[in-house]
Amino acid sequence: LTAEAQAVVDEIEDKEVDFLRLQFTDILGTVKNVAVPASQAEKAFSEGIYFDGSSIEGFVRIQESDMRLTPDPSTFAILPWRDGRSARLICDVVNTSTGEPFEGDPRTILKQAIDRAHEMGYMVNAAPEPEFFLFEEDEEGRATTKTNDVGGYFDLAPKDLASDVRRDIIYGLEQMDFEIEASHHEVAEGQHEINFEYDDALTTADNVGTFRTVVRAIAAQHDLHATFMPKPIPRVNGSGMHTHISLFTESGENAFHDDDDEFNLSETAHSFLAGILEHAPALAAVNNPTVNSYKRLVPGYEAPVYIAWSDRNRSALIRKPAARVPAASRIEARFPDPSCNPYLGLAVLIHAGLDGIEKDLEAPDPVRENIYEFDEEKREEYGIETLPSNLGEAIEALEQDEVVQDALGEHVYEKFVEAKTQEYDEYRIDVSQWELDKYLEKF
Ligand code: GLN
Ligand code: MG
Ligand code: MG
Ligand code: MG
Repeated sequence: LTAEAQAVVDEIEDKEVDFLRLQFTDILGTVKNVAVPASQAEKAFSEGIYFDGSSIEGFVRIQESDMRLTPDPSTFAILPWRDGRSARLICDVVNTSTGEPFEGDPRTILKQAIDRAHEMGYMVNAAPEPEFFLFEEDEEGRATTKTNDVGGYFDLAPKDLASDVRRDIIYGLEQMDFEIEASHHEVAEGQHEINFEYDDALTTADNVGTFRTVVRAIAAQHDLHATFMPKPIPRVNGSGMHTHISLFTESGENAFHDDDDEFNLSETAHSFLAGILEHAPALAAVNNPTVNSYKRLVPGYEAPVYIAWSDRNRSALIRKPAARVPAASRIEARFPDPSCNPYLGLAVLIHAGLDGIEKDLEAPDPVRENIYEFDEEKREEYGIETLPSNLGEAIEALEQDEVVQDALGEHVYEKFVEAKTQEYDEYRIDVSQWELDKYLEKF
């Protein structure tokens, strides 16, 4: 065993952990796990744990279904809600017939994006801001859309009844080594945000999966259902997962910072940003991957609709947040939402940005006005395009964007489009309550 793996095996023994959850995610971003008794830890590190990948969403065809999980020792964490008796390890998935990383494993896809950045001389840092709602459960323990508080943006208790739950969630996250920067009540009733420290892109994607798991588990202890669904309630703010990104050089300098630029953004940052704008419609398919995602991307609720960037307003797709120090210069992609697969979401953002750098793309001027208020004529004058307005359009955009397809790799691309086309078709043929209310008695 490597020294790092051995240290984990020792810790498992010292802390009397009984069960290990070996985790990975499917293409849709759902965290899967195989539980093994702690006695298997050494074997998990030395040989890996075999499982049948044919039943995992989008993984493999039945006839080639043997996969191996290789735990990443740096991801070891004891789960706070199981009396300290269970721990998790995030794993890479290996194709047993070739011994190579499995090309259908989202973590592998993100590693490839990070590798491409390395080859160009960069390290990628990222920080997401996942928002979520807390809802009451009904008598059967099923989620409702009834909020348990009537707080608003940055409200304090007693209006913000959820602050106890949020505090427990933060304790849970801290026990899992999260560094929490801030937490606050979001704009909508029952809506919250907890910000954690930025990290390298891979750790950040791992963290998003852990974050969602911890938030749901601790909310459930309070008989509440936490949801990361992008727009659970119509006509109020939805939940985004703004994603801050910066590139650092190998010598540890922020490649996105330039003192002399009006926005303190380097040429590299401008090109990276231009790459994201250029590929935005296809990026949306991956970062806004559900039918419901597009109910959030409408004017008026602080979520972007138009493909533009800004150094001030929040109606743009990308914002340049104010940075206290050069190291903090970064861009904020505001369109991703927390229903996305964080590995794939980040992988395509990184590739699109690097494509912008490679092609020396120039960013358009920032838009400083509120773009929600632009009419079509003004948008045309500024050359502002719009994001796809539904999942079907986003899939079409993905089908036309080779850079984003290559970012996903053939396997993930095909399985993703297949799953999402089916999802959109299901939605298209459904008849909603809105339609019944509108037409049933009228016609
Ligand atoms: N909830 C908003 C969104 O959907 C963001 C609000 C905020 O963070 N200021 O993106
Ligand atoms: Mg925020
Ligand atoms: Mg927010
Ligand atoms: Mg933000």
